[in-house]
Amino acid sequence: VPAHATTPDRSPERPAYLRADLPVQRRVADLLSRMTLAEKIGQMTQAERGSVDADRGQITRLQLGSLLSGGGSTPTPNTPEAWADMVDAYQSYALATRLHIPLLYGVDSVHGHNNLVGATVFPHNIGLGATRDPALVREVEHVTATETRATGPQWVFAPCVCVTRDMRWGRSYESFGETPQLVEQMETAIDGFQGNGGRDLARPDRVLATVKHYAGDGDTRFGTSTIGTIDRGVTMTDWAHFRDVDLAPYVTAVRRHDVGSIMPSFSSVQWTDRPGSAPLKMSAHKELLTDVLKQKIGFDGFLISDWEAIHELPGDYATQVRTSVNAGMDMFMEPYSAPDFEATLTAEVVAGRVPMSRIDDAVRRILRTKFELGLFERPYTDRRHLAEVGSAAHRAVARRAVAQSQVLLKNTGGALPLKPTQRIYVAGVNADDLGNQAGGWTVSWQGQSGNTAFPGTTILQGIRQSARQVTYSADASAPTTGADVGVVVVGETPYAEFLGDVGVEGHTLNLSAADRANIEKVCGAIRTCVVLDVAGRPQIVTDELVRMDAFVMSWLPGSEGAGVADVLFGRRQFTGKLPVSWPRSEAQEPINVGDRHYDPLFPYGYGLTTRR
Ligand code: BGC
Repeated sequence: VPAHATTPDRSPERPAYLRADLPVQRRVADLLSRMTLAEKIGQMTQAERGSVDADRGQITRLQLGSLLSGGGSTPTPNTPEAWADMVDAYQSYALATRLHIPLLYGVDSVHGHNNLVGATVFPHNIGLGATRDPALVREVEHVTATETRATGPQWVFAPCVCVTRDMRWGRSYESFGETPQLVEQMETAIDGFQGNGGRDLARPDRVLATVKHYAGDGDTRFGTSTIGTIDRGVTMTDWAHFRDVDLAPYVTAVRRHDVGSIMPSFSSVQWTDRPGSAPLKMSAHKELLTDVLKQKIGFDGFLISDWEAIHELPGDYATQVRTSVNAGMDMFMEPYSAPDFEATLTAEVVAGRVPMSRIDDAVRRILRTKFELGLFERPYTDRRHLAEVGSAAHRAVARRAVAQSQVLLKNTGGALPLKPTQRIYVAGVNADDLGNQAGGWTVSWQGQSGNTAFPGTTILQGIRQSARQVTYSADASAPTTGADVGVVVVGETPYAEFLGDVGVEGHTLNLSAADRANIEKVCGAIRTCVVLDVAGRPQIVTDELVRMDAFVMSWLPGSEGAGVADVLFGRRQFTGKLPVSWPRSEAQEPINVGDRHYDPLFPYGYGLTTRR
């Protein structure tokens, strides 16, 4: 514990809020009654960790309630110990404030504790949706919670419960699937993170979860975004569709899983059944944040704004802050403008434009969560699970998840399973690229091709472990002499946000020319041809399908590529089912099960099994 950290008063007359024997509600009320306006507004402020790193005294002076390592954050250390040290060092500055209110530290653990080199990296949500296995998803997120909490952060900005309705949306892979029913089924993810609601949050293997991005982020209309074409666009919907498709997962998250925090979306909603309705950003949407979510649905956790999301609201900064607070936002992810945010909100309250009751409501929600997390008793990292980060046991869970996420879409002439005695010719960059196989939100925000910085097994390595005679040629230039089977791995390179936006390449669902050439060469030369797609969403294979004997959707498996080999070689059965509809052409998007003229290449729910 750093020297200047202040230990809470342990005397018998200690203030009620420091007494663990009292009910949380009492402690919250007591603490709130002692707080100045500045201290309250501090609790509502979240800064990016790098923005306070050079002068950590800012944490104390600004009385910050929270820090984050987000997608766009400055790089973080790459050992579990260094992470815990980092978070604890920041914590000591928060504890040096007058009331010693601990910090909440948040990270995007969206497929494992993916900012940390050495963590177990799981398949992205779309692959988990393909498993149709709620118990597995709970287990996956329990591992993620364990690895995250052991290294300091007590809070994750996950799971994304978006219902993805258009594969051109680049964040589709963060979705469990295109139906609210499937997404709701997979909300066991919340239990994996939080355990038994608020009751388990203080445990060293649990974290506070965030469902995001509330609501309709996956249902925006192509071509409607103000900053691009789809990533942060407009959900144009009537109330009934919004309620049944976009809102449903939040009702379940709140009522069935007691989720602790919710992140409003960058996107807007425009009602098609209300004359004159204009697009309104979710960060300013009082009806949906307060009336619907907090009052009707009964959400009693807190709302965290998305990264500088309020900067996208109309008006000057004071207007943006005021509008969002008054709409119901509780904590503000203001990575680089925490001082400005605090000064601005203070002025708005003093001028009477933001009621004190709203501030108190926000702070009460945040403090209650901090008490439930046990932070007042144990502000520093409980490191007892530190050695489990990236452990063999955790990787085994990931490997199983990978195997279960694989969807077999075609298998003729007994092409699969492969046999260890076969001579196998593997082609395609994505066969042997951990960075591509993990996708976005891995070590860096947008992800990175060729990233070898984190431990794991590529699909090729998994195949090599399973068969004796394996030849690999990324561009299929090596001779195919004598091979029994060709395995062509096609797919995408990593991306996280802004895909499909104006000026950003690669919103196409079409296969790259190189991938098409590889299929052409390998399937033309070798008798049996298996194609794997390593991508965050379906790609257009309508013309190529006839050349393939077998076709497998591998999604973005993460660090354990050996799980793909497990099903290819029949050590495990294929059981995955499509969580989204597979279009014949990009022009078919958006295409979703239940559409009137539904004619996809492969329907939602499709997936073959291998039986011997
Ligand atoms: C994303 C969120 C994420 C946040 C923090 C935003 O750009 O939309 O999903 O949680 O950044 O990294």
